[in-house]
Amino acid sequence: MGRRNCILCGVSSEKTEATFHRFPSDKKKQEEWCTILNIDINDLPLHAFICANHFHKSDLIDGKRTQLKHSAVPSVEPLRQTVDSSDEKNEINLAH
Ligand SMILES: [Zn+2]
Repeated sequence: MGRRNCILCGVSSEKTEATFHRFPSDKKKQEEWCTILNIDINDLPLHAFICANHFHKSDLIDGKRTQLKHSAVPSVEPLRQTVDSSDEKNEINLAH
C-alpha cells in the first residue's frame, strides 16, 4: 500500500493513525463534497484521499476497515485532532 496524502491537510498516511478515505464514486456526491471543500471538480486528482480527521466520528463505521457512512460529508477544518499533531497548537485565544 503506497503512501497517501490528505488533499485537505496534507498529512501523510505514514504520520497519522487516521484512516484515509476516497471521494465517493457517485458523481452527485462528488460534486457535493467539492462544493463543501471549495474544490473545482476538474482539479480533483484521480486518487484523492481525505483523512478521517475531517469527518465526524459518527460518520465513520468501524470494522475490519474503517468506512464512511453513505451520508458522510467532510469538513475542510479538521474535526478531530490526531495525537501526533501537537506541534500545531495554534489555538486562537481572544479572551479579553
Ligand atoms: Zn486531513
